[in-house]
Amino acid sequence: HVKTEGRNDCQFFKESMNMKVVERQALEAGIRRGLERKEFFLHYQPMVCLSTREITGVEALIRWESPERGLVPPSEFIPVAEDSGLIVQMGRWVLHSACEQARAWQDAGLPPVPISVNVSALEFRHLGFIDGVQAALSETGLAARYLVLELTEGVLMEDVESTVSLLAQLKSLGVHLAVDDFGTGFSSLSYLRQFPIDVLKIDISFVREIGPVQTDSAILSAIINMGNSLKYRVIAEGIEIDKQRAYLLDKQCAEGQGYLFSPPLPAPQLVDLFLSEPLGQRSRKMAGSGNSPRYD
Ligand code: C2E
Ligand code: MG
Ligand code: MG
Ligand code: MG
Repeated sequence: HVKTEGRNDCQFFKESMNMKVVERQALEAGIRRGLERKEFFLHYQPMVCLSTREITGVEALIRWESPERGLVPPSEFIPVAEDSGLIVQMGRWVLHSACEQARAWQDAGLPPVPISVNVSALEFRHLGFIDGVQAALSETGLAARYLVLELTEGVLMEDVESTVSLLAQLKSLGVHLAVDDFGTGFSSLSYLRQFPIDVLKIDISFVREIGPVQTDSAILSAIINMGNSLKYRVIAEGIEIDKQRAYLLDKQCAEGQGYLFSPPLPAPQLVDLFLSEPLGQRSRKMAGSGNSPRYD
């Protein structure tokens, strides 16, 4: 009796595993096709100064509109792109497009702010990565200091020795480096000090804790204080309500990102954000000279 049941369970398990393998292969084929058919595009989300709400940077976030699947979230296709190696091709496209867009905004006379690009593990460790970053900059003419590469703690800690060498090469290009989703991994800030990091992005999970019945978050304060004393730009992710903005500002966190200010948007809408000041109360002064367009 027991034996029969066991066999059935096993059979069921096998079938569901096969389903997963088949679905994964279909998704992979879809991503490959999608890259050829140019179904991927970028949205852009601003980072802002938490006191003035001025835009301090923009993060590029990839989107996939598949004719068969509709809008597929990155959390679904990025892991498959990683496993299949397609992330390398995808990442190159993201880097190029983001740098191109940042350059175009600057050429249009918008205040120059850095553009952040997410880099996943395989992409970072891929042999052609450094050259790819250099190529994206020279092909688009974006100055290296306007590019920020976001790497998660997990990616950095994977192989510390090679991380140190890769980051040194990236820094010598002149780009800036950010730790994304900070606080979710196992590393301590003192350990991260061996890396030439410029930006610390505090994971959304810490910001979510700042709710209506907020009890003081000692960890959040500690992260902000250490980030500040190490002279990093400290940016809190996922700010949705003004209470979170005010709390973080009170704890000396200078910058933030989240739906309170703006969701990720298509490039033309981001221009509107820069121009029509919906992020805050203050008016912006436009950078640029006589030949840049006037927006007032
Ligand atoms: P991430 O880099 O930590 O990006 C932040 C995510 O939080 C984005 O999700 C963004 O849309 C979302 N978000 C922003 N503000 C809020 C908020 O106020 N509340 C909430 N709940 N969420 C907010 P998205 O675009 O779905 O991207 C998810 C992850 O996928 C990213 O996390 C990043 O790890 C990865 N990813 C996105 N684009 C790329 C890319 O071009 N290349 C690589 N390698 N990874 C990417
Ligand atoms: Mg990011
Ligand atoms: Mg993040
Ligand atoms: Mg994330």
